Amino acid sequence: MLVEEKDKLRSKLKEVFGYNQFRGNQEAIIRNILEGRNTFVIMPTGAGKSLCYQLPALMTDGIAIVISPLIALMKNQVDQMNAFGVNAQFLNSTLTKTEMNRVKRESLDGTIKLLYVAPESLTKVENVDFLKKANISFVAVDEAHCISEWGHDFRPEYRRIKEIIGQLGNLPIIALTATATPKVQLDIQKNLQMEGADVFKSSFNRTNLYYEVKQKKHAKKNLVHFLRDHKGKSGIVYCLSRKKVVEIAELLNVNGFRAAPYHAGLEPAIREKNQDDFLNEDVDIIVATIAFGMGIDKPDVRFVVHYDVPKSLEGYYQETGRAGRDGLEGQCLMFYSHNDVNKLEKFNKDKPVQERENARVLLQEMSYYAESPVCRRKQLLHYFGEEYTVENCEMCDNCVKPKDRYEAQDVAKIAVEAALKTGERFGLNHLVDVIRGVENQYVKSYDHHKLDIYGKGGEESADYWKSVVRQSLIYELLEKDIDNIGVLKVSQKGHDFLKKPYAIQFAIDHEYIDTGDEEESSERTPVSTKAYDETLFGLLKALRKKIAHEKDLPPY
Ligand code: ADP
Ligand code: MG
Ligand code: ZN
Repeated sequence: MLVEEKDKLRSKLKEVFGYNQFRGNQEAIIRNILEGRNTFVIMPTGAGKSLCYQLPALMTDGIAIVISPLIALMKNQVDQMNAFGVNAQFLNSTLTKTEMNRVKRESLDGTIKLLYVAPESLTKVENVDFLKKANISFVAVDEAHCISEWGHDFRPEYRRIKEIIGQLGNLPIIALTATATPKVQLDIQKNLQMEGADVFKSSFNRTNLYYEVKQKKHAKKNLVHFLRDHKGKSGIVYCLSRKKVVEIAELLNVNGFRAAPYHAGLEPAIREKNQDDFLNEDVDIIVATIAFGMGIDKPDVRFVVHYDVPKSLEGYYQETGRAGRDGLEGQCLMFYSHNDVNKLEKFNKDKPVQERENARVLLQEMSYYAESPVCRRKQLLHYFGEEYTVENCEMCDNCVKPKDRYEAQDVAKIAVEAALKTGERFGLNHLVDVIRGVENQYVKSYDHHKLDIYGKGGEESADYWKSVVRQSLIYELLEKDIDNIGVLKVSQKGHDFLKKPYAIQFAIDHEYIDTGDEEESSERTPVSTKAYDETLFGLLKALRKKIAHEKDLPPY
């Protein structure tokens, strides 16, 4: 590229957007699309994907079409561009006939530089006819993962985009997404017929985000505590159900926070108002289901809390990615509970077998992530196919407050035996009661107080044993009974382990577990981190392979 042209890009960047320099790959991407080549951009949330089509739209003759999945998202960007003095408009179902005609007229006479179109509107015959007459420079497909059933936000209409673009002529396409799993990436390229596109993938490491997982215990109290530390700052609290959203929003308001609910069941007008209030800082906290957030550009979100366990690491990463878009610190806190995972599994119960199995594997990955003592950042990046070798990231709970790892062969044996001897018909809490010798009505009615395993672990706390049972599950000595949610069975691996026990390492979460006095805990054999990580990653990789549809992918 000529120096002169390079300067042109930069001065436009400064003149229109007010930025002094490009971030990451932006310039190379913009140059690529300006050269008329198909371009595939994979960048984490907040990295600055929009600029990759907004700026080239201003550098070319004609109008750039931007396909975007949400009306709120289009509005957000159109407002922003208009504020920059750029004529951008959208075409979607919210427009009146008059507005629609004006947009079409201004598109044809070339006044509009960027036209945002909803996929539903794009596929309408009258719009296709109009677009055929317009002078289009290129097409941007934003949030391109909506094309894939393997993404976290599948939109069937997205699958028809390519067909329409084809009717508009031979136009260069730029597809953009923050979803980087290999399966989704392949799906997007195949569907948009851009296998030959130049791919620009940047690192998914968001160095300014602090990741933390807490066991979900006294969660309401802990949530309020956490939020008090961030009083007056902007943040999102995600809940799984609409009911919970309303409940938590009320809880926060009662406790003196300015919070508003957001979920798909609210009246559209209320939903929009709450979103605007959040963007305009009339409320600090939005309590929401995952219906909230895609493409919302609020740069100073300081925290994202997952009050309930998310359904997949992918979704979790996207949602946490809404924090710290301005590059300043963002806190990402998740409350994890074994019980929540069971509840989610119950929801999946009636789904077709393959779907249910995939959902189960995604949840299992979530559990691995939550229970593991390995650096959160390393785990997340691993999930996106990136290797992270920094010893201590200094921005996650597992690095800042490392968990001790200990040789757990004897206690794992007790956990597995408890499941076996009670007939593989019970869940975590019951097994822990038996191990600790808690003489409750259930234990007695099943005669479990007569088992030799009964009371074997009476000296340790319930939290300690719960952790042991959960980790036996993570290490696949126990497995979940697929037909009876919550019930734990002994896996083949578990039977082998009982026959011939071997060394195995578990981690202690000191915050939740009273491990007794200093002396006692120092007796545990410390284990090297590296060996531990490798075991865990081995399990994760094996787990990925279980998703039948991932079989044809290169291993990562
Ligand atoms: P993404 O779509 O990748 O999630 P956005 O396009 O919404 O991210 O951009 C995130 C933020 O980064 C926005 O506030 C945007 O204004 C800002 N931004 C983008 N590019 C630059 C740049 N070159 N310099 C400074 N800020 C930028
Ligand atoms: Mg975006
Ligand atoms: Zn870390």
